[in-house]
Formats: sequence, structure tokens, C-alpha cells
Amino acid sequence: MKKNVLLFSFLCSSVFIHAQNEQPATQQRPAQRWDPRSTEWHYPVPPKVTPGTNAPSDAIILFNGTDLSLWETSKGEPAPWTVRNGELLVKPGTGTIQTKDHFGDCQLHIEFRSPQPENHNGQDRGNSGIFLQGRYEIQVLDGDNNPTYVNGMVGSVYKQQAPLADAYTRNGEWQVYDIYWRGPRFGTNDELESPAIVTVVLNGIIVQNNYVLKGNTPYIGLPKYTAHGRLPISLQDHGTEVAFRNIWIRNL
Ligand code: MG
Repeated sequence: MKKNVLLFSFLCSSVFIHAQNEQPATQQRPAQRWDPRSTEWHYPVPPKVTPGTNAPSDAIILFNGTDLSLWETSKGEPAPWTVRNGELLVKPGTGTIQTKDHFGDCQLHIEFRSPQPENHNGQDRGNSGIFLQGRYEIQVLDGDNNPTYVNGMVGSVYKQQAPLADAYTRNGEWQVYDIYWRGPRFGTNDELESPAIVTVVLNGIIVQNNYVLKGNTPYIGLPKYTAHGRLPISLQDHGTEVAFRNIWIRNL
């Protein structure tokens, strides 16, 4: 009998100890035993970047209002678009222009102004585009009372994703884009490892929130990925004299 009592008490204490050991770590180790410095680090120190009225101190100024020295045609010829009064104007019929430099992940700031609507509507009114890595278009369009398919309106990832909001102001006013781009990753056999992700802010309003792209942004057909590395930023000539200004980029 005494033996049984001893065995019973041993089993009870084992269960009790076992239960104690299964308590969550936070209960096992009271917070006051932690040295708060053990979860703080001091290196590497982030680089100092000074915000500016026009651009941050470490930005590459792609267009400063005076020349197109950092731009060219897709054939590598001098960019033929017009520079006037500090603005860069699409020269209809001359084709897309692109940066001489190649970019991957980036923060891109660009401002645009739609031309007078005249008799144009929908996709024919103030159409241009900003192509990240030369193949993923963030649509530029006159959004002032100008109905069109929503995945082709201003703020869209062209033919993939409508904007979360219609943040365009008025025709004739400058529209401000801030684009945060993470390019796609490809493996050694050119297979897609991770798709591109974009966040777009138009006039201070988020219109694409970490949107995961399905591929490129063709006018006809479905999006698809083809392996590539860093590529130029390009601006679309869609036949209307859209104006751009204050274009800068930060590599990420
Ligand atoms: Mg376009």
C-alpha cells in the first residue's frame, strides 16, 4: 500500500514538472531577466539622405527641366522629344524614349500634365505610360471625366489592375506619381522565382498597394514573364503631347 502511494505521488509530480516545462517561453523567462540591449543593434548605420524640395540628396535626376542627356530612343539615338519651359513634352510619332541607365528595384518620382482634351476621349486622351524595366506599364492618361476600361485608366497597371482610387485631379493640373518598384527575380534557368511587386501613389493617394504583377503589360493578349535583368525606364509616345517634369529615381 505504501509502495502504491509513493508511485502515485511520483507520477503526479512528473506530470506537474512536465506541465511546467511546456509553459510558453514568455512565462518561463520573465521579461525582467532580459537585457534590453540584446535586441538592439547599431550597425550598419543607414546612409544619410536629405529630403529636398525637388529630389532627395541621393536621387538620380533623370530630367531636371533643361536637357535629355540621360535619355535616348530604343535604337540608342538622341531622344527627340521636346524640352520647353522646364517641361519634357512627348513629340507624337517619334516613339518611346528610355533612360540610358538600366534600373531594377527603385523609387521613381515623376510628374505629368495632360494636354487639352480637344476631341479625344478614352485611351486617345492624354495617353502615355511609365514602363518600369521597359516592359511593365503604369498608365498615364487624362482622368478628368474621361471614362475608359478601369484597368486602363490613370493609376492602373495597364490591363492588369485598376487603381484602388481615382486620384486624378483636373486636366491642365500637374499629377504626381511616386512609384515603389520591386522587379521580378529569375532563376538560373530563366524560370520566374518571384514576380514583380509595385506600390503606386498618385497625388498622395495610394492607387496600387503591393500589387503582384502577372507579367508584362501588353495591349493585346495576356501578361507573361520573360527573364531579364536591369533595364531602362521608358516613357510612351501614344500620339498626344503629354508633359513631364521633375523625374528622379533612387535605386533600392
Ligand atoms: Mg499608355
